[in-house]
Amino acid sequence: MGSLTARNKPHAVCLPYPAQGHVNPMLKVAKLLHFKGFHITFVNTEYNHKRLLKSRGPNALDGVPDFRFETIPDGLPPPDIDATQDIPALCDSTSKNCLAPFRQLLAKLNSSGVPPVTCIVSDGVMSFTLKAAEELGIPEVLFWTTSACGFLGYMHYPRLIERGFTPLKDETYLTNGYLDTVIDWIPGMKNIRIRDLPSFVRTTDRNDIMLNFLAVESERAAKASAVIVNTFDEFEHDVVKALSSMLPRIYTIGPLQLLLNQIPQTPLESIGSNLWKEEPECLQWLNSKEPKSVVYVNFGSITVMTAQQLVEFAWGLANSKHTFLWIIRPDLVRGDSSILPPEFLEETEERGLMASWCPQEQVLNHPAIAGFLTHSGWNSTVESIGYGVPMISWPFFAEQQTNCRFACTEWGVGMEIDNNVKREEVERLVRELMEGEKGKGMRNKAMEWKKKAEQAASPNGSSFLNLEKLIKDVLLKHQ
Ligand code: UDP
Repeated sequence: MGSLTARNKPHAVCLPYPAQGHVNPMLKVAKLLHFKGFHITFVNTEYNHKRLLKSRGPNALDGVPDFRFETIPDGLPPPDIDATQDIPALCDSTSKNCLAPFRQLLAKLNSSGVPPVTCIVSDGVMSFTLKAAEELGIPEVLFWTTSACGFLGYMHYPRLIERGFTPLKDETYLTNGYLDTVIDWIPGMKNIRIRDLPSFVRTTDRNDIMLNFLAVESERAAKASAVIVNTFDEFEHDVVKALSSMLPRIYTIGPLQLLLNQIPQTPLESIGSNLWKEEPECLQWLNSKEPKSVVYVNFGSITVMTAQQLVEFAWGLANSKHTFLWIIRPDLVRGDSSILPPEFLEETEERGLMASWCPQEQVLNHPAIAGFLTHSGWNSTVESIGYGVPMISWPFFAEQQTNCRFACTEWGVGMEIDNNVKREEVERLVRELMEGEKGKGMRNKAMEWKKKAEQAASPNGSSFLNLEKLIKDVLLKHQ
């Protein structure tokens, strides 16, 4: 592909769902395709584009030949810049309002000086794009940015509804033991309880936006030319096998970061996707710490908690007596700014650092990090695996529950904290992770997975080869 001139390059339009945990992995896919010779148009919502320019500087997205950014509106009134996004409203709006501006954008691209659009790589939950690909007669790949196990859970939403497992009869079903019912009819999943399925089944409303949205979006996956997932075959083997029988083509191409690590980064590395401003001082602080001595605490971009839960985490960390780096987003605490008790700040002054956002992958890859207290978002999980870091999991919503279950029972790299978090449990689990036998076992297991992840991403590894196949058999099919 090296000899392709600019005008006859294949042109991939990449459209992530407009949230941090979707934009990050899509940008990685876009960079890999760019390296493989594609002209890239990366489409953000206008709102996220503004945030990126704010967090990364006005020129952060320019300067790489054949890698351009475009925007479409998300259809919602502009929220406060930096406010927590209303996910159900965004899902509802993108599915109803984004096809028209997306079509217009494709038409504009096809009549401007760039190569004609030859394929679409769209987020799995932006499946309205299938219509646009069909109209242009070009292939479309849907990127499910969840784990394969989470995706498999969503794929069974229609059957869970049909069989009456969801919606719940009434609110008492949330606490009466019903969520512990084992579902034994999902191929690829062993000993899965209702509570381990993606959390939108925990509704009593048949019209619940998220339940219906995910049921519809996941059913449409079978209509795409192919589906890609940021995982590797060996890690989620049974689940991927089950998915392949439900979909025409599925390619595991993760961990994406490990694939990216193999390509020359300049000039691509200047393009980033953090919607919050990173505080790189965290890395300097980590440089001063002993190897494997720090607990890294971060609940991602969407999780919110009560002020009381924040205080429980704080005292749990303080009482564990271990060193910690804790990322507290400005909007982490519901309805209030995050207020930490002065006694906690005094007590942990020497061994705790708090910041509002960090370059997470560099943190996870730092030798000082021993463990990760996480909400089990899929990106955080797969990044942690890629760097061999065991986890304590406090899942918040969506498929985080499924990721947590698999981390604890299938992959042997996780321990769960009860949703009703108490400081004693945080202290106990942090001590176990840092000092205990179980913690040691989890660390060894995480290192084993790291090696397997590296193999999958290395030349002739499964993810590496899958990416090649995806390009040859699907994305370039109409060239
Ligand atoms: N992230 C980061 N710095 C932070 C917090 C998060 O760079 O301080 C990145 C993280 O590396 C990951 C993404 O944001 O790629 C969060 O995605 P995830 O799926 O873990 O969770 P979500 O935010 O979607 O709940």
